[in-house]
Amino acid sequence: METFADGFGRRFRYLRISLTEVCNFRCVYCLPNGYQKVAGPALMTPLEIERLGRVFSHRGVTKFRLTGGEPTVRRDLGDIIGRLSALPGGNKVAMTTNGWNLARYIEEWAAAGLTNLNVSVDSLEPDVFRRITGHNRLNSVLEGVDRALDLALPSVKLNAVLQRSAVGEGFDRFADYVRTRPVAVRFIELMRTGDNLAFFEDQHVPGSRLLAWLADHGWSPCLRGPDDGPAIEYRHPDYEGRLGLIAPYSPGFCDSCNRLRITAAGKLRLCLFGDDGVDLRDLLASDDRPALEARIESALAMKPRGHRLAEGRSGDTRNLSQLGG
Ligand code: SAM
Ligand code: SF4
Repeated sequence: METFADGFGRRFRYLRISLTEVCNFRCVYCLPNGYQKVAGPALMTPLEIERLGRVFSHRGVTKFRLTGGEPTVRRDLGDIIGRLSALPGGNKVAMTTNGWNLARYIEEWAAAGLTNLNVSVDSLEPDVFRRITGHNRLNSVLEGVDRALDLALPSVKLNAVLQRSAVGEGFDRFADYVRTRPVAVRFIELMRTGDNLAFFEDQHVPGSRLLAWLADHGWSPCLRGPDDGPAIEYRHPDYEGRLGLIAPYSPGFCDSCNRLRITAAGKLRLCLFGDDGVDLRDLLASDDRPALEARIESALAMKPRGHRLAEGRSGDTRNLSQLGG
């Protein structure tokens, strides 16, 4: 069966599934006042997520990423990982988490079939980490990362959002961290969303700051594979891990877009910074696979060429906890 593709010839092998909008952190750029409950449609059940996964896997998706909000607040997370992992095709099952309770549950998630783990750690300084997330938990998050490394998960990465107040010595600290750990730390340029304009204007740092640091310190870019995501990673002969950059504001960023997104309530989002989405819920409830494929195909024909962040337009995305980044 043919891989899902859009009108610009981009093929989609990667599906990000949000499991909830709820989050227990209060990251300054995302949910500075914490998650505020709003009435909305019920979350997709593990069975609906499995059905969704089956259709996308049948149409060429090879990697699912669970995200949120904070995906680990769901008690049925292990069940969801297990169902996606059991689908035919040997898909990767990835998760992006803030690391809350990672140390406690990573063995369970790995046993259920989790293959790729991304943990968001914006700073390796405990005080800065607390200021950014609202929680004094850096050590416990890092303990969880080390457990994941001990379990030899196929991929363990850290995400760090570039913020003016946390760069500077931050790059040296992260480099020290990867000296003996086979971890990629990927710095993400802060993105403007509907809610964070003032923070964005104060704190946005262009990725060129990191690139200059990497060049000064002897890091060189790794070769890229055809299905690589948007991160450009760098290596250094004296370091086991890698450092990388995700720069959504750079020209051409959207040209190699290989991902689609599903909201926690089962809407297909064509772009992180688009508007609304195409509801798949009725077809997930009836498990009508041909109709699901047809609806997704016709939606993909509408996928825009790229986001319009440079024009200051971030669609109806108020913050990334709504969609999972
Ligand atoms: N709660 C989980 C976490 O933080 O890892 C998963 C969801 S979170 C929305 C996914 C990723 O998006 C995190 O790495 C987070 O740092 C990043 N993120 C959130 N808001 C962002 C923004 N405005 N610009 C850039 N990255 C952002
Ligand atoms: Fe929560 Fe992740 Fe947003 Fe931080 S970035 S508030 S951990 S959803």
